[in-house]
Amino acid sequence: MRVTAAFSRLLALPGVRVRKVDFEPDRVVVTVALRRRRLSCPDCDFETAARYDTRPVESRWRHLDLGVWRLEVRASLRRLVCPTHGVITEAVPFARSGSRFSAEVEDLVGFLATQMDKTAICRLVRIDWDTVGRIICRVMATGLDPGRLEGLFSIGVDEVSWRRHHKYLTLVSDHQGRKIVWGTEGRGAAMLDEFFDTLGEERAGQIAAVSMDMSAGYAKSVRQHATKAVICYDPFHVVALGTKALDTVRRQHWQQMRRADPHAARRFKGARWCLLKNPTDLDDDQAATLRRLRRHGGAVWRAYALKEALRAIFSDDLDPAEVAALLDRFCSKASRSGLKPFVTLARTIRKHREGILAAVRLGVNNARHEGLNRRVRLIVNRAYGFHSAKAALALIMLTIGPIEHVLPHERTHVPGG
Ligand SMILES: [Zn+2]
Repeated sequence: MRVTAAFSRLLALPGVRVRKVDFEPDRVVVTVALRRRRLSCPDCDFETAARYDTRPVESRWRHLDLGVWRLEVRASLRRLVCPTHGVITEAVPFARSGSRFSAEVEDLVGFLATQMDKTAICRLVRIDWDTVGRIICRVMATGLDPGRLEGLFSIGVDEVSWRRHHKYLTLVSDHQGRKIVWGTEGRGAAMLDEFFDTLGEERAGQIAAVSMDMSAGYAKSVRQHATKAVICYDPFHVVALGTKALDTVRRQHWQQMRRADPHAARRFKGARWCLLKNPTDLDDDQAATLRRLRRHGGAVWRAYALKEALRAIFSDDLDPAEVAALLDRFCSKASRSGLKPFVTLARTIRKHREGILAAVRLGVNNARHEGLNRRVRLIVNRAYGFHSAKAALALIMLTIGPIEHVLPHERTHVPGG
């Protein structure tokens, strides 16, 4: 067997013929030629037989390593004139538009990015993290299930901050499929308008419930576009507001203490996690701190009791009538508590009461939604090193979006001869 024929079978690149193989000191270089005569635009469906010219330099892609060898594919490409995209280099069947990597490398990186930490993937594949970011953007662009926006019935919209609250992503999740189905950079009603534009009137009209945070201002967009949808306020977000109110009380108390008794204030500072975590998640030391806080009583303990009462309302499988009664009782207690953050919270809950109860009635599952939210936050933390929000979004979509990873060795192919 000739070496070109051997490499043709080894690499199994679609639509090409291997013309030459060179062993260079640090890599194996495989020069290929496209089988097809017609030229196609890499960014649309346009095809033509007419060539504009041939690129004076060879194009290069990194392919999957061959053992310890780094493998480079080279080809001499032509340019065409696309009516939409102008003069552009022709598409190749084995790589995505604009990439210096073969699609197989990118598919592998796309999968690894959902499974491994930054250091491991960069070292294994020998690329930097921003390159990983650019690769996963391309994998997301071509890999998402095109049917992901069909048949949406109950959805949630959330905003997450990334890069220390300076930037935001707006994410839409499918409650049934438990997946993030859409996302964009930025936050606020305009971002959700963008989602509804993509969805179109007909599909938007089929949405029965949209859950959201009480503060984010997405309700207006939903009322305008998804006219049949009931607006639900996730219990998850209600509980999160309770935790936030507690944290405000704790901080105020700490600042007062710091002025009066700096030593005690230092000890109290460590109490933060005991207060904010669920009591069942505390270790022994934290549980002891919590008991001390209870003995001490005062504003912080009252705030803690309120937050736990709020959490309890939604953590059991209570029917909507029971939840309504408990929620009203919570609001009257909170507004009489003398704790300003809780007085405000009671007002917010009363204002959104119908939407909160709608979420309970329609079974917008709190635990499930909270689980998805927690995963989003973990992914956003990992994505911190990316310089682009698009890459952070791609990591979210590849990990918990409607995509199926097909790895190079799982692809069925007939090895080319
Ligand atoms: Zn085009």
